[in-house]
Amino acid sequence: MKRIAIIGGGISGLTAAFTLEQRRRAGASLDYVVYESSPRLGGVLVTDHIDGCVVEAGPDSFLTEKPWAADLCRQVGQGDQLIGSNDADRKTYILVKGKLVVIPDGLMFMVPTKILPTVLSPLFSLGTKLRMAREWFHPPRKGEADETVASMVERHYGSEMVDRLADPLLSGVYGGEASQLSVRAVLPRFADMEARHGSLGRAMLSARRKMPAPASPRPLFTSLRDGMQRLVDAVVAQLSAAALRTGTPVSSVRPESGGWLVSAGYQSDHFDAAIVATPAPAAATVLQTASPGLASELGAIPYTSSVTVNLAYNDNVRSSLPPGFGFLVPRSEGKQMLAATFVHNKFPHRAPENRALVRCFMGGARNEQILQAPDEQIVLRVREELRQIIGLTAEPQFTRVYKWRGAMAQYGVGHLERLERIERLCRQLPGLALAGNGYRGIGVPDCVRSGADAAAQVLTALGVAPSESRAASS
Ligand SMILES: Cc1cc2nc3c(=O)[nH]c(=O)nc-3n(C[C@H](O)[C@H](O)[C@H](O)COP(=O)(O)OP(=O)(O)OC[C@H]3O[C@@H](n4cnc5c(N)ncnc54)[C@H](O)[C@@H]3O)c2cc1C
Repeated sequence: MKRIAIIGGGISGLTAAFTLEQRRRAGASLDYVVYESSPRLGGVLVTDHIDGCVVEAGPDSFLTEKPWAADLCRQVGQGDQLIGSNDADRKTYILVKGKLVVIPDGLMFMVPTKILPTVLSPLFSLGTKLRMAREWFHPPRKGEADETVASMVERHYGSEMVDRLADPLLSGVYGGEASQLSVRAVLPRFADMEARHGSLGRAMLSARRKMPAPASPRPLFTSLRDGMQRLVDAVVAQLSAAALRTGTPVSSVRPESGGWLVSAGYQSDHFDAAIVATPAPAAATVLQTASPGLASELGAIPYTSSVTVNLAYNDNVRSSLPPGFGFLVPRSEGKQMLAATFVHNKFPHRAPENRALVRCFMGGARNEQILQAPDEQIVLRVREELRQIIGLTAEPQFTRVYKWRGAMAQYGVGHLERLERIERLCRQLPGLALAGNGYRGIGVPDCVRSGADAAAQVLTALGVAPSESRAASS
């Protein structure tokens, strides 16, 4: 019987456990234990149901084009829970000099693919529009050197594009800054397009021409009707209850007698393999004794914190809010809020017809101190900024603040080289695998894939052949 420890019970660790459970049910002689420091499983996937509203504390959905999370939902019997975003109403605004300006049609991240809407949009100055035209003749970039997203975008479209689009979009996804994040790690497709075509606009159009038109267009985002927590609950229901050790923080994971010794409090347990599925800084701490070199690389992956604030309003507010999914706030606007989602518009079933649900984001690299502020003060700040931005003065029916300390990995310049070093160091520690959002993707689907891959990796190391039916195909 092979014994495998999983450290971290977020969606990465739970997917690893589910993959092992599938192998166990298929006849493999193995056993696993999930160690989770907090009293509940699921990590940042938390849904509260309040007065008929589905209130997401962490992620509210995932990108449809990355299939691994939806595949996992189907495998745990939640296929009928999958819902798509209301893309017919998709419209996102950017706050520009205190006013909301809609992102023009045809803009793919920051690459314009439709001329007329871009030319007519007040989002960009004439100077930036001229840069967009000149970008068409941008030469291919020679060399492999990594750079920040800001530096790449600025080379193509100028600094206004960084401030008004690239930076707010990245702070929405990563809680990070375009001036810090690695283009090769965060936007590998763009780095590749630039190397081959030069102009991102030309590359995007040529890629679109080659792509067959889908029979029915897929929604941009997918979620679960009852909220993301439903996925966690369904995965946990598949696992052996005896294998789940919540409220059990692991202090060290180190090689011993050809296997791995996992220490949690006064207890130590011996395993044949270990999957560390925590955020990278926590992985660094538990692996310090096993490999100081690996720990130092893991500890060097920065994380930022995030705060989500949910506010529910009555139907008067619902009918007075701008149509669309919400807005992004560039740093140059001097607000604490990074973005707001009009949840009742983005997905069906999120709020009763007579309610509006608004979800605001704060935190990020430049605002770690927000974590110290009391919830009431955060709500007051958010309400004041909503007043300034959309004139919303109504009293909310309820509010909920969720603080996520060090939850968002930041892939800085050189991240991919760091991953190569990490993978090299891991190869010297047979039976150890890493999973989580610190490595090859921060989104829920990437984390699901990382958990399934880590499980497959330890099974191979232990000589248990990978299953035909992996939890998520890579
Ligand atoms: C506010 C917010 C909004 C987001 N929105 C989206 C979105 O809309 N779409 C999307 O795709 N992604 C989104 N993300 C990103 C995505 O949700 C996360 O990257 C992903 O869920 C991380 O999963 P994980 O299992 O790797 O880590 P986590 O969820 O952080 O889980 C790690 C677990 O390890 C445990 N742990 C840590 N140290 C130890 C230890 N020593 N011993 C035992 N246990 C330990 C922790 O308690 C935690 O439960 C969002 C993230 C946040 C914070």
